[in-house]
Amino acid sequence: MSAFSYLTHLECSRCGQTHEAEALQTVSACCGKPLLARYDLERARREWNREALAQRPATMWRYHELLPARQEAEIVSLGEGMTPLLACQQLGQALEWPSARVLVKDEGQNPTGSFKARGMSAAVSRARALGVKALATPSAGNAAAAMAAYAARARLPAVVFMPEDAPESAMVQVAVSGAKLYLVKGLINDAGAMVAALKEERGWFDVATLKEPYRAEGKKTMGFELAEQLGWRLPDAILYPAGGGTGIVGMWKAFEELEALGWIGPQRPRMIIVQAEGCAPLVQAFHAGSETAEPWQDAHTLAGGLRVPAAIGDFLILRAVRASGGTAVMVSDAEMLAAAKLLAATEGIFAGLEGAAPLAAYRKLLADGALKPEDEVVLFNTGSGLLSLDQFPAQAPVLRPGERP
Ligand SMILES: *Cc1c(COP(=O)(O)O)cnc(C)c1O
Ligand SMILES: [Zn+2]
Repeated sequence: MSAFSYLTHLECSRCGQTHEAEALQTVSACCGKPLLARYDLERARREWNREALAQRPATMWRYHELLPARQEAEIVSLGEGMTPLLACQQLGQALEWPSARVLVKDEGQNPTGSFKARGMSAAVSRARALGVKALATPSAGNAAAAMAAYAARARLPAVVFMPEDAPESAMVQVAVSGAKLYLVKGLINDAGAMVAALKEERGWFDVATLKEPYRAEGKKTMGFELAEQLGWRLPDAILYPAGGGTGIVGMWKAFEELEALGWIGPQRPRMIIVQAEGCAPLVQAFHAGSETAEPWQDAHTLAGGLRVPAAIGDFLILRAVRASGGTAVMVSDAEMLAAAKLLAATEGIFAGLEGAAPLAAYRKLLADGALKPEDEVVLFNTGSGLLSLDQFPAQAPVLRPGERP
């Protein structure tokens, strides 16, 4: 009989020490670093096979054997995941590389409009199952919108701290979902400090990026889906707009797990992280050859999801990028905006600035030869442009009755 989940324990990402998975955990007790969920992959390999997936619903929970929920009833879902992987030939033509092999994984089609839904579905499911009574998170916007939605679905109260210039769409999504919203003067790290300072006294469980083990598990399903959607192989390169980097950490882990199951081979895509010129701590660390990143001073970019001056999982992200033979690229806000318009106009995919950053980076890497047009690349559109409409001013002539264009 196969298990619903093969979760066995949690492991410190720094020193490997084991932590109990049936207790509520934050960061590792030993090192204060992210905890990674571990599964009995040998048993899963014997008892589970990929053909079983054909019958499953098109959500990320189709991979429940390698997700943390112990039973179906534990899952808090809004239909997240199994987003389309769209072939983009016209984009290649527009870039004047007609042979370019570009795919876009359109995460903007997730509930609440961004891939934050995946992480929150996993984290909120697990938190509720382990007895949490209230949730809190700092967020640039999209994590807050997702947490508020999943908290409502889980019937848990939730509190959100966002920078005061967070996008209106996030504030509205949080407010209509019934979560409590506070705006903070400062950046996401300042919002994070606020949650950290109050959580014990207020009885909140902090679901900030990589401060609990399961958001990364939700995000890793992007890696499972890529493999499944490509017929159990992986592309040559993945371009990903990195803030806290859970997606990179998660997908890298997903590929290891798939190989342990025998579903894919040892080949890996080059993992390429993209950051904004005004906040690029991981890009700087990558090119400096450092194992960790220095906090970025005076972080500024209109791409709020990328305005993360310090990431607790920095060493994990850098490790994955290096092990994969990947690289790290900076792009300007203007380049992101131009890329968003190009993607929308050539393929009908409306990405926000973060989600357009991989296309901006792809252009650069093609131009300097680091990527070849024959390399099959997957660009991650992490969030819908509908979440930040004010960044895309639209002008149209107004016609009076009787006037014609
Ligand atoms: C949060 C966010 C990111 C950064 O994601 P990480 O996994 O934390 O690096 C990128 N794009 C969008 C739209 C986001 O909301
Ligand atoms: Zn440790």
